[in-house]
Amino acid sequence: MKGLVLRSSKNLFTVRLLDAGGNFEPEEIECRIKGKVLKSSEAFYNPLAPGDLVEVEGSLILALEERRNMFTRFNQKGKNRQILAANVDLILCVCSVDAPPFRPRFLDRALIQADEAEIPAAIVCNKYDLLEDGPSGPAEDPDIEERLSDFERIGCPVFRISARTGQGMNEFKDYIGGKFSVLVGQSGVGKSSLINALVPGLEIRTGAVSEKYNRGNHTTTQPIMFDIPGMSAGTRIIDTPGIRRFAPAGIPPEDLILYMREFAPLAGKCSFGLSCTHETERGCKIMEAVHAGVIHEDRYESFLRIREELLEKGDFPND
Ligand code: GDP
Repeated sequence: MKGLVLRSSKNLFTVRLLDAGGNFEPEEIECRIKGKVLKSSEAFYNPLAPGDLVEVEGSLILALEERRNMFTRFNQKGKNRQILAANVDLILCVCSVDAPPFRPRFLDRALIQADEAEIPAAIVCNKYDLLEDGPSGPAEDPDIEERLSDFERIGCPVFRISARTGQGMNEFKDYIGGKFSVLVGQSGVGKSSLINALVPGLEIRTGAVSEKYNRGNHTTTQPIMFDIPGMSAGTRIIDTPGIRRFAPAGIPPEDLILYMREFAPLAGKCSFGLSCTHETERGCKIMEAVHAGVIHEDRYESFLRIREELLEKGDFPND
C-alpha cells in the first residue's frame, strides 16, 4: 500500500496509508524501513522526511517514491544534508518582530534553500501585536519595514501577522489554502502558535522563549506534518524544529549567486566573468548593483558570509 510519511524519530516513521480511493486513512501507523536502508536515500542524514510517499507492507516501508522536490539544510551536528520536508508546494520562512529579535539573515538563508529546491517561498513575520501603532497608522518598526519591503521588492510575498491576536491571519489563511507548506524559523518565533491558531483545538505545545534559548531545548525536535481542517482540501503544514542558524545545503559556493534572485540575472556579467569574487574587482556588476541600491547591502553581506561558509565546508559528499 501507498503511505504518506508524517514524521520520524530515529528509525521509526509515522505513516498514514492511502485507501483504495486514493484518500488518506485517518489512523496513523508506526513503520520501520525494511532492511534499514532505502535505495536513493543513503546519501542523506535522514532516509525519510514528512511529505515522502512510500510503499508499505504491514509495518514495513519497502520503497520510496521519487520525490517531486525536497527542502533540505546542512545538519552541522551530523555533518550531512538533512531533508526537512519532501513534495511540498510552499516554504514559509517565519520570523518575529521581537522576542526573539527580527533576524533577516535567517530569512536570506532559508530563501536561498527554497530557490535551490525550486519551491516558492513567502515570509511570515509574526508577533505584530508587540509593536506600537504609529501616529499615522498600524504598528510598524521602520528598520524591520525597510527589510521586509525589500523582500517584497525582490518578489517574495510577506505576511505581517500575530498568531496571538489573529491580525493578518485571514489573508495568510487564504494564501496557504489547498497548499502543502513547510514552516521554517528560529526557535520561539511562533511556529507552533501559528499552527495552533490555524487548527482550533489542536493545542500543540508552545514554549517560553527564554527556556528554549537557555537550554537549547526545543519543543519540536523533528519535522512533523499537520492537516489543517476547515480549510480547502489538502491544506497541510509541516512544522520543523527551531533552527538557530540555517546552513544551506547542496549549493556549490560558485552557484550561490544563482539562488539569490536579484543577484542571479547578473551572474557572469562582471568584467572578470564567472571568476569574479564580487569583493574587490573592477567592473563587478554585483558591487555596482549594491551601490545603485538594486541589491540591499544586508543581502550582499549575507551573500559574502554564506559563500565563505560554503567554501569552508569544502566537500559536498551528497551533491
Ligand atoms: P516556536 O518555537 O516557533 O514554535 O514558537 P512558539 O509557538 O512555541 O512560541 C514561542 C513564544 O512566543 C510562546 O510564549 C508564544 O506564546 C509566543 N508567541 C507566539 N506567537 C505570538 C504572537 O503573535 N504574539 C506574541 N506576543 N507572542 C507570541
